[in-house]
Amino acid sequence: MTLRLGFHGAAGTVTGSRHLLEAGGVSVLVDAGMFQGLRELRDLNWRAPAFKPASIDHVVLTHTHIDHTGYLPRLVRDGFAGPVHCTPATRELARLLLLDAAKLQEEDAAYFNKKGCTRHRPALPLFTSEDAEAALERLTPVDYGAWFDLGPGVRARFHNAGHLLGSGMVEMHIETEGRGITIVFSGDVGGYDMPLHPDPDPPPPCDVLLIESTYGDRMHDRTPLTDQLRTALTDVLARRGTVLVPAFAVGRAQQLVLLLGDMMKAGALPAVPIDMDSPMAVDASRIYASHLRDHNLDEGLAQGAVSRLSPPTLRYHRTVEESRALNELPGPRVIISASGMLTGGRVLHHLARLAPDDRNLVLLVGYQAAGTRGRALLEGARSLKIHGDEIPVAARCVALHGLSGHGDASELLRWLRSGPSLPRAVFVTHGEPDASKALALRIGQECGARTFEPRLGSVFDLDAILRP
Ligand SMILES: [Zn+2]
Repeated sequence: MTLRLGFHGAAGTVTGSRHLLEAGGVSVLVDAGMFQGLRELRDLNWRAPAFKPASIDHVVLTHTHIDHTGYLPRLVRDGFAGPVHCTPATRELARLLLLDAAKLQEEDAAYFNKKGCTRHRPALPLFTSEDAEAALERLTPVDYGAWFDLGPGVRARFHNAGHLLGSGMVEMHIETEGRGITIVFSGDVGGYDMPLHPDPDPPPPCDVLLIESTYGDRMHDRTPLTDQLRTALTDVLARRGTVLVPAFAVGRAQQLVLLLGDMMKAGALPAVPIDMDSPMAVDASRIYASHLRDHNLDEGLAQGAVSRLSPPTLRYHRTVEESRALNELPGPRVIISASGMLTGGRVLHHLARLAPDDRNLVLLVGYQAAGTRGRALLEGARSLKIHGDEIPVAARCVALHGLSGHGDASELLRWLRSGPSLPRAVFVTHGEPDASKALALRIGQECGARTFEPRLGSVFDLDAILRP
């Protein structure tokens, strides 16, 4: 029986996750991600994949981030007609993220056509809202730990990966010619002792492991988050300044509310208003609150768990009018708004208003890609172009370290070793080449596994690799 593993994304880069397993007559695509970042990567979204969408029998999604799900609407439009397996929370979050991504695609295409600045005439969205809806209809929820069938002799189940609400590593079991082979797809692996998100479950015993390597060559700052927040916020709030937090609407915004609420309750920070100004963050908070079993909250399922996610001073702002009304409200307060790298969205209106005042603080809580306003602020920019105007920056800017959804190099190794046994073969994926190489080297040296760093389009014969 053929047993092949193809790497059609997140190989030599961190986006576009698409792993194709072919076992006998069964084809399973694990993750259907969009390429993001540099133009040459984004162009890959428009290229036909090396496989026929109609030939895929099943899709399995590790989690809802667009670099793992954003290709799904195209896959469905181009002929995929099977089920898409994911956890219940992933299904709910996917509705938010895929419809939002479709809207952005449609708006960009309309903008480029109006301006006439496009290489393609007319500019088209990669997928439309209708495509996203059609893809969402295929999502089939399955709880952590429950086996689901992927065809004759192939079954799988999810374990919590601790990366984001609903995130799951995939344990896939294949019966082939009288023996069983287990492959684990890590998806994105969370760190340990994080607010809100639980530690990743240990990897189940397996023959083959695919492991992400986003931070395969780096270590996170270990200064406690509460210490960093107290140092950054105390003076600002005392002088009645406003703290503006550009935050990713799903995950980061909820973690931050939890941290701030807990600190205010404990008296470590004054109990000032927290304004969550993003319709997507508001919706994501509701979904987080309805999946308490998936979280790392001390009170477990008690009422306290919900209240920690919505502390007394938290206010949600959904409409544009509500957002504008914030302009009239003085500090001290904390405004959390998207986007996380200050590339667009409502947060820009707040930034334009708050940046020129030296009483205020911009708190960056996530990765800031090159070329974004967030990166410019981190590098000390004294002015920023916002909506065509040059805005002076007098507010302070501080980066909060340690809220990453990804484990660092040591945490990835800790996770790998936390299982009952080590895999024989490890494919290091989802990283820049240097990060993947560094992690592969450590896994080889410290765990004795045979390691591979697949390139885009690599296909491996697993039978040959596992032959004794
Ligand atoms: Zn992710």
